[in-house]
Amino acid sequence: MFSLNDDQVIVVKCKSYDRDEVSKAYDTIFSYFANDEIKGKSVYIKPNILKGDKPERASTTNPEIIYPVAKYLKSLDCNVSCGDSPNFITIKKMIDSIYSATGIAKVVEEAGCKMDNSSRGTTVEGGKYLSEFKMLTNVLNSDVVINIAKAKTHSFTGYTGTVKNLFGVIPGPVKGELHLSNASAKDFSNCMIDICETVNADFHIVDGVIGMEGPGPSSGTPKRMGVLVAGKNPYAVDEVVVELMGINKANVEQIKLARDRNLTKPIDEIEILGADLEELKSKYVPFKDAVISVASYWKVLRFLLPNKFIMRLKKKPFVQKECIACGICAEACPPNAIKIKDIAEINYQKCIKCYCCQELCPAKAIVIGKNNNEN
Ligand code: SF4
Ligand code: SF4
Repeated sequence: MFSLNDDQVIVVKCKSYDRDEVSKAYDTIFSYFANDEIKGKSVYIKPNILKGDKPERASTTNPEIIYPVAKYLKSLDCNVSCGDSPNFITIKKMIDSIYSATGIAKVVEEAGCKMDNSSRGTTVEGGKYLSEFKMLTNVLNSDVVINIAKAKTHSFTGYTGTVKNLFGVIPGPVKGELHLSNASAKDFSNCMIDICETVNADFHIVDGVIGMEGPGPSSGTPKRMGVLVAGKNPYAVDEVVVELMGINKANVEQIKLARDRNLTKPIDEIEILGADLEELKSKYVPFKDAVISVASYWKVLRFLLPNKFIMRLKKKPFVQKECIACGICAEACPPNAIKIKDIAEINYQKCIKCYCCQELCPAKAIVIGKNNNEN
């Protein structure tokens, strides 16, 4: 369906979200689409729709990166749906309002395609670490899945791109259960890989025109990189994106585990199709948890110390005065560690430091590691 192999990754310059410029960048990517094989198929586009942020926040896939894909597939007579399982929400009206706020619903409809707000899940077999899990039925039933992720640093996993984006095929609150039962970044990343393997999406695109650095995936700072990265192998695509972002791969469990599981090759063995990687490299500020920032012996520590101890060294989330007591964090918190009083209050005896609360807070009222209220 796509005329490239697992060791090839397309890298295309794209400096802005101007529709003409993005369309030109996509000419290169679409030249690898085997149109005859895709024609008339049912296609599910899975962007990153984390929450109802405006595109300028750079926490979600920019609508202008989705529009050309929807339009192109429509021109091939495909039956195209676009959706995600945003946040931990399953109420259709709320999902629709998130789709609208991100600007994605508008462009998908403009392309003549439809948004999918169903949270119906089907249990599927997992892999090595996750024996089974529930995924969105409509993704499962599509002929073709196209994963369109955003390049961001991530407070919990270090980085989020194609592989982490597919965690969004888990419907609503089931995501929380997986966080709870896989509390370390390593266990969680192994689960993400199992999910990615099972979903087996056909093609992956990363919006790296403007990514996010610092405390991503939602509270960081937008950072321009001016690039689209695409390919058939999600692990190879992520390997290239992390290289472009200048993140230390030793701090991204997913990258290390994908190599250990022989799912991709190191960067110098990946064939780059298109632009020159060196010319496009950036330097994203990572999110540093306590262990990584104080110990250059991190690798040794990780190896020697039990996960429970590592977890204790990780920074705590703190609720700030900006809290509007909306309750979203309490609903999403996997171990029910948050109670809403005048503002949200965290029970640190229960907290597993998954940072879902920080990820989803609409008021940016949760910070990791520093309680500004005590200043
Ligand atoms: S911390 Fe954020 S998500 Fe939680 S109640 Fe306050 S405003 Fe809402
Ligand atoms: S309080 Fe926040 S970081 Fe702690 S477990 Fe709940 S969602 Fe995760």
